[in-house]
Amino acid sequence: MKNYWTKSKVDKLSNMWAKGVPAREIANKLGNVSRNAVIGKANRLGLSKKAKDQDSKKDNKDFSLSSLVADMKGCKWPIGHPGDEDFYFCGKPVIPGKPYCGEHCLIAYRRKDNNQKIKKFFKLNTD
Ligand SMILES: [Zn+2]
Repeated sequence: MKNYWTKSKVDKLSNMWAKGVPAREIANKLGNVSRNAVIGKANRLGLSKKAKDQDSKKDNKDFSLSSLVADMKGCKWPIGHPGDEDFYFCGKPVIPGKPYCGEHCLIAYRRKDNNQKIKKFFKLNTD
């Protein structure tokens, strides 16, 4: 197996891998090689790393947004649309026990019938 990976086999592997051909199928097409050997070779060539990076990039976007929300201490009121360049969270100090600052608490709870309760709540907490 020492000289199994000739340049033409490596080229074929790279091409098929880039097209997303499953490792088992690549192994069948190359012949005399196991699926694991194909994956191992792809790893050494840095091919699988590339594919993985693309996947984690996709995941990271969602992940960073949700972790951003979880980690942030300020108001979680979204300004703009998630995914937009200028999207951000308000970030002002929150009302204790609420996810939003005073201003955004008022907006968030405006539609609910407990307006009175909210007003009372804010009065109690202004000092
Ligand atoms: Zn806010």
